[in-house]
Amino acid sequence: MEETLQRSVRYLRGVGPKRAALFERLGIASLGDILFHFPRDWENRAETAPGPTGGNGPVVFRGRVLSARAVPTRSSLAIYKASLSVPAWQETIEAVWFKRNSYRYDVFKKLKSEVRPGADLWIVGRAEPSLVRVKECRVEEYYFIEDTRANIHIGRWTPVYPSTEGLSQPFLRERVAGALAMADQAVDILPASLRQHRRLLAISQALRGIHFPRSRVELEESRRRLAYEELLLLDLAWILKQGQTRAAEKSHRYELRRSLLAPFRRQLGFELTAAQKRVINEIFTDMQSPHPMTRLLQGDVGSGKTVVAIAAMLLAVENNYQAAFMAPTEILAEQHHWTLSRFLDGLPVRTRLLTSRVARQTRLRTLDALGAGRVDILIGTHALLEDAVKFPRLRLAVIDEQHRFGVRQRATLRNKNSPVDLLVMTATPIPRTLALALYGDLSVSTLDEMPPGRAATATHRGSEAQALERVREQVVIGRQAFIVYPIISESERLDLKAAQVEFERLRQGALSGLRTELLHGRMPGRRKAEVMSRFVGGQIDVLVATSVVEVGMDVPNAAVMVVQNADRFGLASLHQLRGRIGRSRHACECWLVATPQTPQARRRLEILCETTDGFRIGEEDLRLRGPGEILGVTQHGDLTLRIANLVSDADLQAQAHEDARNILSRDSRLAASGNRLLRQRLLDLYQKQWGLIDLA
Ligand code: ADP
Ligand code: MG
Repeated sequence: MEETLQRSVRYLRGVGPKRAALFERLGIASLGDILFHFPRDWENRAETAPGPTGGNGPVVFRGRVLSARAVPTRSSLAIYKASLSVPAWQETIEAVWFKRNSYRYDVFKKLKSEVRPGADLWIVGRAEPSLVRVKECRVEEYYFIEDTRANIHIGRWTPVYPSTEGLSQPFLRERVAGALAMADQAVDILPASLRQHRRLLAISQALRGIHFPRSRVELEESRRRLAYEELLLLDLAWILKQGQTRAAEKSHRYELRRSLLAPFRRQLGFELTAAQKRVINEIFTDMQSPHPMTRLLQGDVGSGKTVVAIAAMLLAVENNYQAAFMAPTEILAEQHHWTLSRFLDGLPVRTRLLTSRVARQTRLRTLDALGAGRVDILIGTHALLEDAVKFPRLRLAVIDEQHRFGVRQRATLRNKNSPVDLLVMTATPIPRTLALALYGDLSVSTLDEMPPGRAATATHRGSEAQALERVREQVVIGRQAFIVYPIISESERLDLKAAQVEFERLRQGALSGLRTELLHGRMPGRRKAEVMSRFVGGQIDVLVATSVVEVGMDVPNAAVMVVQNADRFGLASLHQLRGRIGRSRHACECWLVATPQTPQARRRLEILCETTDGFRIGEEDLRLRGPGEILGVTQHGDLTLRIANLVSDADLQAQAHEDARNILSRDSRLAASGNRLLRQRLLDLYQKQWGLIDLA
């Protein structure tokens, strides 16, 4: 019975090879696929009442064409106008069509034959919202009153789909309506008992209701059913994957010798926070277990993740193993290298740095030493992932600012030597569900406490002049400042030039007399390192930089952060940038200089002024951008959710989780006949991605 839905979309009227190829672009091959191509929005297309149009929704009315004409223009836009008498409104309305002009053919040929005096039409369009009454309306769609297809498009909640050029909304809508006629054949993978327990619609009802809801309630119930199904599948996959990971055995064992950890603690210069101690314990427990660790360490900017990472790596080194410490940028890797050298001063730990900027000779020597086991901790960027990098005794990989890396890169590092313990760290908290969706299985540790003695950072919006004035005032009392520019263009040369021009302008203008230097991502590595160490050492007052300083830099004496064109940065980046200051007792200020062009950009800046709480910022970021974009997962195809929202569907997710546990506790391999369909769908979705071998 399911066979009908497996037929190609070409089975639908009006879909030939060309359009089938366009459908393919949307990931649609079969009739079933089309049913699962969910709308991104719905539009209320009830017939519009006379009176103010209000808002920017569509205007929908029925009218008879009185006259029609093409309006001559010289521009590339061709205009067609028709006057219609609209009985419901007792008005005459001007309907206007715009088309791109063509010299080769008459773009209005079809309109001229259809929209002509005497024709009775439905019009869907947009009107100037300022008009008290609609007088003129820009037409988006029109249908003949007697055309039965009009019922699909008019007088109801109408779906708006994600689409691609060449597939118009009305066309897609009609194809979906056509496929929905077969919705009864869609197989319900949810066991009936579960559907009853959670009061979920049958799949065919939900499919109809998601595309053409008859009410808001029906829409919400349909969405709930479909989202639940996705979350249940995801949860089943996690639990199975978890079982698999937990069952894996690692060949290595760690013993808590304290030969390095004890002296490290002694020479640290500060007491660990209670949160750091707790988290280190959690990590050690994982590392000492016979199964590989996958742990996410989240902690706001400045919460002291690096020290935790060092402790974990020392446990590995104490046991004669190697550790890798991977950071997303050269600067951050370099900074970690210094930090480690400082904290491990005098201890028998051999650390090395490997980035693509390390000179060839040095690089070869490092690789040699690494291969011979003469390096204990290798710090670096993506360069660590190259094939040439061979660790004979790698047992622990730490990845800093994990959101900067793709899932695949993490997998590569992990697979260098298997099985390796993996610790990923992030300052951008991600909801647990999303984290699970990315890793299949992981445990989460949270640093929910800041090291003591931090002064608050006040965030302001202001003009450049105001901000630079504050920079001068702070430098006078001995503090330092950052001035950060967004990456200006994709082109290296333009970028460099723009940063240099800005730098000169500031140095000779508002900042004259101060020790100001430029730091740019494309400067030679040696020069960059030199500028950085002079800034850290206090020999530079103001560092003008592109966003290379975004993550990780640690200069406690810096008290002002000026972000130029702040509207061009995302929320997480702004929060990271602000995190470069407020690392000591000095009161700090962050200045956002910007003229935001969009409501979202304005909102981002507002949020930043309102709060310094990274968790709230992370949530807002998810709300504004959606999880896929934040983690760069949509393009990797790592996340298979189409309709469930891991932020707003948290309650539903909890239910799905409970149900998934129940199902598996009774039927751990989904072998029962009632679970056969679930199992099949699960394998289709997650087998390739996660390798759910237990089920295959
Ligand atoms: P992040 O979590 O953003 O990576 P870092 O590891 O860079 O934070 O730590 C921020 C700063 O706080 C560093 O200068 C670090 O040396 C310092 N620090 C870390 N832990 C403590 C602590 N327990 N007490 C005092 N300072 C600390
Ligand atoms: Mg850090």
